[in-house]
Amino acid sequence: MDDTVKSIVDVSKYLFERKLVSGKAGNVSSRFKNKEIDIIAITPTMISLKNVKEEDIVLVDFDGNILTKGKPSSEINLHLSIYKEKKNVNGIVHTHSPYATGFAFSNKKIKRLEGFGKIKKPYLEDLDYETPGSEKLAENAAKALNEDVLILKKHGVLATGNNVREACLLAEFIEDIAKTQFISHTLNLSDSF
Ligand SMILES: [Zn+2]
Repeated sequence: MDDTVKSIVDVSKYLFERKLVSGKAGNVSSRFKNKEIDIIAITPTMISLKNVKEEDIVLVDFDGNILTKGKPSSEINLHLSIYKEKKNVNGIVHTHSPYATGFAFSNKKIKRLEGFGKIKKPYLEDLDYETPGSEKLAENAAKALNEDVLILKKHGVLATGNNVREACLLAEFIEDIAKTQFISHTLNLSDSF
């Protein structure tokens, strides 16, 4: 468990430093087993990921019971529903990173670039808007997540992985491909270069 909590704190600070999250936005969680029971460790609400410490991480069981002091992220339902649905997901990172979220607020989809292995679908999947923190968002996202990333329309990015560090790398990669797509599109708009 200690390593789980430490990796959440490390990932939180990394996301902030890399400007994938700002202010008090974004949340990070990881699943671990305690005597065969699934426990979710998640960042707290109302504390910036920049400042989050190991003692701030909140433990929650699959029924949503809070096992430690503190209040979990307002997106706890989103994280829980994905862990319940996807047995191979052990880490989740949710960001509002600027370029990917810019796409989420537009009518454009993010194209897959290199790094996704064999490309079957040309675009990253996205999910219609539901109120952040709502049960409906949690339910729809768990159903819609076919691969390891989902773009939440008018909201942000949901990246998952076999562990939280993998989910973090994916969130960073998604931001980068969105930025590349934005730049190439902008350059193509002008013939003056
Ligand atoms: Zn959000």
